[in-house]
Amino acid sequence: MPEGLEAEIYARAAHQVIGRRITSVVVDPLCGDGDLLGRLVSADVRAVSRHGKHVLVDTTRGRLDLHFGMTGRLIVDGSAAIQQLEYGARRDDPVWDRLVVSFDRGEMRVSDPRRFSRHRLDPELDLGVDLLAPVDQIADALQGVSRRRGPVKGVLLDQRVIAGLGNLCVDEVLFHTGVAPSTPMCEVADLNRLAEVIATTMPAMLVAGGSHTGDTGPGHRDGDGRCALDGTPLVRSMVAGRATVSCPTHQR
Ligand SMILES: [Zn+2]
Repeated sequence: MPEGLEAEIYARAAHQVIGRRITSVVVDPLCGDGDLLGRLVSADVRAVSRHGKHVLVDTTRGRLDLHFGMTGRLIVDGSAAIQQLEYGARRDDPVWDRLVVSFDRGEMRVSDPRRFSRHRLDPELDLGVDLLAPVDQIADALQGVSRRRGPVKGVLLDQRVIAGLGNLCVDEVLFHTGVAPSTPMCEVADLNRLAEVIATTMPAMLVAGGSHTGDTGPGHRDGDGRCALDGTPLVRSMVAGRATVSCPTHQR
């Protein structure tokens, strides 16, 4: 968390700063270079976009890249695009502000208790196809890594393959594809089916509110969660170094 879906929600909220002029930028030294980001003062915001988990604010003096780490939230003009991340802060304490961009009217800030958010100027992003891209582009990306021997879960988490998928979304995609997370990528039989599930599940979860809304999301992940399809108790394990939830009956 936050995954690409949360970044999309943030990016949409940040659209309201388009056309404003930046009057100051204050960043926590752990989360960004204050001297570099200071160059944005007096720049005008031209556009806001997103790729993967990155929100990109284009200005007349460069591109500001916002990456939210594990617990970052974007707050625009005092209102949070997402009130509460599933594993994030439950309140909005000003001491957690790691980036504050003030405009000629209003402000945008990143509240991040864990301090893993990163904010850069004109970054070079080495990212794969976006998680909300059309199905044929996602299928091409999967085809390009179809010989990898590592677990499919790790491949889907690789931001250079598909940008924006995180732990919760990958578990959900594999659940609905019926593939066990530890399956070697090179043994996944139907990559087109996997691409189709990504291309249908991601927009649906975005509409539902984000990466926590799936059948393997929080609430199903600990204790006595059961498979929504066949009722089997869900199994927890570690795959690709991440806490993973899957159904031992229909995910093979
Ligand atoms: Zn099942």
